[in-house]
Formats: sequence, C-alpha cells, structure tokens
Amino acid sequence: MEWIDKYRDKARLIALLEAISAGAKKLRAPLHIMEVCGGHTHTIMRSGFAQILPKEIVLVHGPGCPVCIMPRARIDHASLLAQQDDVILLTLGDMIRVPGSFGSLGDARARGADVRFVYSPLEALRVAKENPHKLVIFFAIGFETTTPMSAALLAQIHALKLHNVLLHINHVSVPEPLFALLESPQSRIDALLAPSHVSVIMGSRLYEPLCERFHIPIVVAGFEPVDILESILLLLAQKLENTARVDNQYARCVSKSGNLKAQEMIQNAFVKRDFEWRGLGIIPRSAYALREEYRAFDAEARFASLLAQSVGKDNKACLCGAILRGAKKPTDCPLFGKHCVPTNPVGSCMVSDEGACAAYYKYGFVEA
Ligand code: SF4
Repeated sequence: MEWIDKYRDKARLIALLEAISAGAKKLRAPLHIMEVCGGHTHTIMRSGFAQILPKEIVLVHGPGCPVCIMPRARIDHASLLAQQDDVILLTLGDMIRVPGSFGSLGDARARGADVRFVYSPLEALRVAKENPHKLVIFFAIGFETTTPMSAALLAQIHALKLHNVLLHINHVSVPEPLFALLESPQSRIDALLAPSHVSVIMGSRLYEPLCERFHIPIVVAGFEPVDILESILLLLAQKLENTARVDNQYARCVSKSGNLKAQEMIQNAFVKRDFEWRGLGIIPRSAYALREEYRAFDAEARFASLLAQSVGKDNKACLCGAILRGAKKPTDCPLFGKHCVPTNPVGSCMVSDEGACAAYYKYGFVEA
C-alpha cells in the first residue's frame, strides 16, 4: 500500500489543486477536458474532483467504457446466440446485466440459457474441453486492452484444433471515435485525458495524429487521484503555453511505443472494420474483425441469418448516447436515480463499473 499511498497523498492533492486553481485564473475561457476512459470517470467522481476543481476546468465524460458503447443490436446478438440449443455463451464483465431488446443475458440465463461470466477469454478452452458436445461462444468485448487476449484465445483454439469454440468479436479502437467527436461541429472538447490501459498496449504515440490534426493538448493519465490532478495540470500548462503535444503522466506503465508483442498479436488475428457505436453511429474502421483465414471461428459469420433478427432499438428516454458524446451528464437524464438505478438499469451507462451514470449514482453526485 505504501506504493499506492503516494498517489492518494492528501498534501500532494491539495498542492496540485492549488496549482490548478492558480493556472485556471489565467485562462481566457473555460477549459473543457474530456476524460476518455470510464475508469478515470470513476476516480474523478469518487474523489469529488467534479465539485472541487475551479469552475474554469470543465470535465466532460467520454466514450471509453466498452460495455457502455455497445449498441443494442450487439447485445441482441449475444441474447440470440445464448438461446440456441447446446450453446454455452461466455463473456466478460458487466455484459450480463446490459439490457437488450430481448432482455439482458442475465434474463436469458433465468430462462434456461447457459450464459457464463469469465475472467479470462482463455477459460473458454477449459469450458470447451469439458463440454465437447456443446458449442462454446466467447462474446468478446473491450478496447485494445482486451483485444490481445482474444487473439491469444484464437491462437490456442487453432493450435489445439478445437472445433467447438467460436468468437463473436466486439473489440473496438480508441482513436477513431475521438476523431469523430473532435470533427463534429458541436464538439466542445479542448483537451483530452487519454486512457491508461489502452496506452499500455498501444503506447502514447497512438494519440499523436489526434494532436496534430486538431492541435489539442493530450495527456496519458494514470488511475489514482494524484495521477488525474497531475494530468489536468499538464493539460492546463499546455493550454496556457498555447501548445499541443502528447504528454505521458503514466510513464510508470506506459511507453511511447507500447507493448509491441501484443500489437503484433492484434495484427495477426484481426483487421479493422466499420462499427456502430452507441450514440456515435457508424464509425469507419473503428473496430476489429477476425481475419478472413479465421472465418471458421467467427460466430457472426456462422449465425448470420439468426443475428439478422436483432432489433436494436434503444429506450428513447435514455441519454446514454449523448453522455458518451460528452454532450450531456447523467444528472440531465430524467430517469437517473428514479427509474434507472444499478439494480434496474435502463441503459448501459448505469450497468458497467466504468459507466458514467453508475459513477454518479455510486458516489452520490450533487452539483457544487
Ligand atoms: S440514467 Fe439510465 S436511462 Fe438515463 S442515461 Fe443513464 S443509463 Fe440511460
């Protein structure tokens, strides 16, 4: 804990807040900072930063929660697959609770479907060996953080010649939605707190094209409270110097080039594809699909006619889409905390551990 304590040290946090307050007074207009990652949103809400930062620093939540950005049609895919005879559907994290047009995967399980939560995609190998007469489908989600794990699973299925494992790929990529958001005429983003886990894999250089294209300050930030405030101070310094570059506050884990082995695994298994994001529409080349040579392992190809039955209609009252674009806050939603709570979520942002609505609810956000 000693190692982590220094990133939660009260005196250091107060000094950083004072430095941010002093710098913020020199701004000519409020600085809108988008924290891309849902993990950052939770640290910000848990630490009360949204209330105690000076009013010139405006935090905007972004599209960095992989469960939240999944459109309803993909949730429907998972439900449809899970309800097939002799199928075991495996997935990660909070996907089991996200509501789709046919209910959640948890609802499908209550109706008798074999839906299982796993910590690692490689658990699919054990489940497949234990159930040789069943088809195991791994519903893969996540940014470049988890994409190499699906690539590792694919390599193992191939090496072990397992014929009863398929993957349904929903891996998405970080830069493309940021390009889409920043290109929008409605964009009010002046600076970016870049995600940590994705950067461990892809390196801080991932964001250089964004910086060059939009002349926007970017800082790769760690997850602890000191990390967040240090990163905000670095963004503020860039803004005051009227410069734009990628700074790496999280250098204890992130390098400029990232994990080259993991990047190679991604390239060997996947190609880029167009993908629909909740709230952002279809973004070209913003996700991953299995390479043509792995088509035999692709659940989306094998069950194409079944998956065409997905409905994909969102609850019109839910503002998840606007929240993921940084255009609204959870407290703007009339359902927040009333009809929509973590035990009965209406939208994906109230489900996930990285969702903005879940963070506001968990930490009892009130306007300063
Ligand atoms: S509070 Fe619920 S309904 Fe409203 S935006 Fe968030 S997830 Fe959607």
